Amino acid sequence: MKSFALPNNTSPASPVIIDADICNGCNKCVNICQVDLMIPVRKKGAAPIILYPEECWYCGCCVEICPETGAIKLNPPLIQRVRWKRKKTGEHFRV
Ligand code: SF4
Ligand code: SF4
Repeated sequence: MKSFALPNNTSPASPVIIDADICNGCNKCVNICQVDLMIPVRKKGAAPIILYPEECWYCGCCVEICPETGAIKLNPPLIQRVRWKRKKTGEHFRV
């Protein structure tokens, strides 16, 4: 019997974004995530699947442990992002 796991496409949450072109499929992010947000893919070198996006704690452990720069990045909700304002020009930045 085959079983399938697909990401929840109806969820608006995208807590982490994986660039499949950069990801080497090492699954270090999968293993370190304390809420098991992602699951590995059987195909060697393939990026993991984000199965439970709503469960993310935005701790950043997955980004910290990733060996490939730019393969995974945090995408916190707008309300959790820090906003900076340049004193001289009044220019705003979000990170
Ligand atoms: S930020 Fe933390 S909780 Fe969210 S996917 Fe990464 S390791 Fe898991
Ligand atoms: S740790 Fe980085 S390179 Fe490894 S599977 Fe996760 S996103 Fe891909």
